[in-house]
Amino acid sequence: MSHLKIEHLSKTFGAIRAVDAVSFEVRPGEIYGLLGPNGAGKTTTISMISGLLKPDAGEVFVGGKPFWSNPQQAKRIMGVVPQELAIYEELSGRENLEFWGRMAGLSSSEARSRAVELLESLTLTDRAKDAVKTYSGGMKRRINLGCALLHRPKLLLLDEPTVGIDPQARLNILEFIRNLRASGTAILYTTHYLEEAETLCQRIGIIDHGRLLAEGTLSELQERLGGDRVFVLEADFKDASPDNWNGFHQRFRIIQKSERQLVVAAVGTRDSSECLKDLLNLPVRVENVTLKRPSLNDVFLQLTGRELRE
Ligand code: ATP
Repeated sequence: MSHLKIEHLSKTFGAIRAVDAVSFEVRPGEIYGLLGPNGAGKTTTISMISGLLKPDAGEVFVGGKPFWSNPQQAKRIMGVVPQELAIYEELSGRENLEFWGRMAGLSSSEARSRAVELLESLTLTDRAKDAVKTYSGGMKRRINLGCALLHRPKLLLLDEPTVGIDPQARLNILEFIRNLRASGTAILYTTHYLEEAETLCQRIGIIDHGRLLAEGTLSELQERLGGDRVFVLEADFKDASPDNWNGFHQRFRIIQKSERQLVVAAVGTRDSSECLKDLLNLPVRVENVTLKRPSLNDVFLQLTGRELRE
């Protein structure tokens, strides 16, 4: 049974369809990445799952039960890490954790011992007594994450938890999240970082303008572009119009075209050497061809016509 399932979830703000009939599920021990640019609808989706916003349409199931049939019970199962830091700067790390533990319904002694455990696994024990306002950005992010975990949620919602921190701090947080997954937690992870989606998530949903455009494992998404056969051609494409090249469209799909570069995916099952022969016979003087595995950026480009670069 999945810990989270959403079906045709929708939310409109005035004329903006922030979330448009989005469906997916997150299973125990899985990190599901919701990948999309700013304004794609990620935060709105999380807010509807956590009960902060009521959907216009659609359903949220937590632990198999409709969220709104028993919001209190659903909230006991989930932990939510908001994008904006939700910590008290004047309190110490330990006090913040204990406070959120009490809010989640733990007794004060449970909250105390759980805070000690979390400080240890977040490698913050030596700073436990310092006011959070003296922490680095990465340490604040770690405490923010810890605050959602006091009650050992089975489902964790993370809204861009690594935004604005340095690479080392980011690695630290990603490692911590991987360990949570290994212990069976179902994790919904929103991000606009391609690399995080590629390296962290078991399955990825690509969202843009409120719509889920595709989902699958990284290799399933790559398959959409012809598996491992994406070719990058370098030539003068200023006056070239591939649309008019004889038979080109039957054999290749254009992912991106600029004055100097044409990125194409091979259609069908021809082998790479045959594709290469076709490409070298094009009516332009090709200066360089490289064969590469499609990245998530190529998939995103193909789906939206835009780049999603870090
Ligand atoms: P970001 O990473 O920038 O937060 P996001 O993918 O989380 O982006 P959302 O915050 O969900 O995107 O926003 C989706 C769309 O809905 C945007 O166009 C945003 O401007 C709009 N929106 C979100 N909340 C509101 C609101 N309370 N009132 C009006 N419009 C809103």
